[in-house]
Amino acid sequence: MATSTNNSAQGGTPTLASAMPAQTHAFQTHAFQTDDARLRPIAEKVMARERLTLEDAVTLYRSADILAVGWLANHVRERMHGNVTYFNVNRHINPTNVCVAACRLCAFGRKKDSPGAYTMALEEAYETAASGYSEAVTEFHIVGGLHPDLPFQYYLDLISGLKARFPQVHLKALTMVEIAFLAKRAKLTIEETLIQLKTAGLDSLPGGGAEIFNERIRRVICDHKIDGDQWLDTARTAHKVGLKSNATMLYGHIENGEDRADHLVRLRTLQDETHGFQTFIPLAFHPANTPLSHLFTTTGFMDLKQIAISRLVLDNFPHIKAYWQMLGPKIAQICLRFGADDIDGTVIEEKIYHDAGATTPQGMVRRDLERLIREAGRDPVERDTMYRPVVRTETSFTISV
Ligand code: SF4
Repeated sequence: MATSTNNSAQGGTPTLASAMPAQTHAFQTHAFQTDDARLRPIAEKVMARERLTLEDAVTLYRSADILAVGWLANHVRERMHGNVTYFNVNRHINPTNVCVAACRLCAFGRKKDSPGAYTMALEEAYETAASGYSEAVTEFHIVGGLHPDLPFQYYLDLISGLKARFPQVHLKALTMVEIAFLAKRAKLTIEETLIQLKTAGLDSLPGGGAEIFNERIRRVICDHKIDGDQWLDTARTAHKVGLKSNATMLYGHIENGEDRADHLVRLRTLQDETHGFQTFIPLAFHPANTPLSHLFTTTGFMDLKQIAISRLVLDNFPHIKAYWQMLGPKIAQICLRFGADDIDGTVIEEKIYHDAGATTPQGMVRRDLERLIREAGRDPVERDTMYRPVVRTETSFTISV
């Protein structure tokens, strides 16, 4: 058991000192029912705990019976996690938005001399971290652009400097795309790059940049990025050197159900090999301010179905996250009944999706998140990045191990 001291009164809640709530199983209120005959054999597999195939996943995407798909996902979610829903208290830090790539999906990256381009000096990044620290942050989530000039040493110093200043905060930093870019610039292998970062204090990786693995789609939305196989190889290497990661998928642009099913199955295959993924996070595409701004935003129907199918296909992923910043708190809340067991964190100062037009608030306090979770009939559990429950008192917080 590790104990850390926090001077913020806002960060402490004495009533949580009784540790993690008992995990109760919330029984489904009605039996499975559907008028889509294609779903019946899939339902039988789910109830028998059998793995779904790629074709099953495509069938789920084609079905309009969202309540039946959601029922199945909720069944699996409750089988795995009972009523528990996780959240954390984190802070996002985006050290630079300067990027050599020009992904069509992106509203965040800027060329070096473009208006709005910024790069934080190291001291500035430390100050940014400190400025959001009053709520007993347990995680810094750090991602940014592919800067053409910042040396690898900048990232090593960023990580080691943050670790020295905030030793109890978990550093979840750098997408697989950033890792591959830094390795190339530093003329190191992916493994050497990850080991140096880990030695500097990196604790895990966030899992962004996966987008959609299908190369035809990838060429249109992010042709400067590493391809899907390279993303998976980088994740494989991270897991091999002892760094856990998450995984993401960007949906709701020009991909179809087959592309999404393929993406999920490729992640599941790697997870069978490494067991290094903690959480899958489907990311709803926000087209505003991107070169794809003519596309529609995702619908609530699509968002709910995506969460549910993720839970059903990724049977070896412990957690499915409804990322409220992208879905909006209202849809994210409903996702807690469609397969999600995590709603992400307080997310102080999120930039990337707000540049792409997200209208959600840039952060929520713990009280707001707990209310969302409780109103969905779930039991909120604050977690750290490794999903250990965090128990708060007025002046300290404890992570159960
Ligand atoms: S998505 Fe990432 S790699 Fe692509 S332009 Fe934006 S910041 Fe750069």
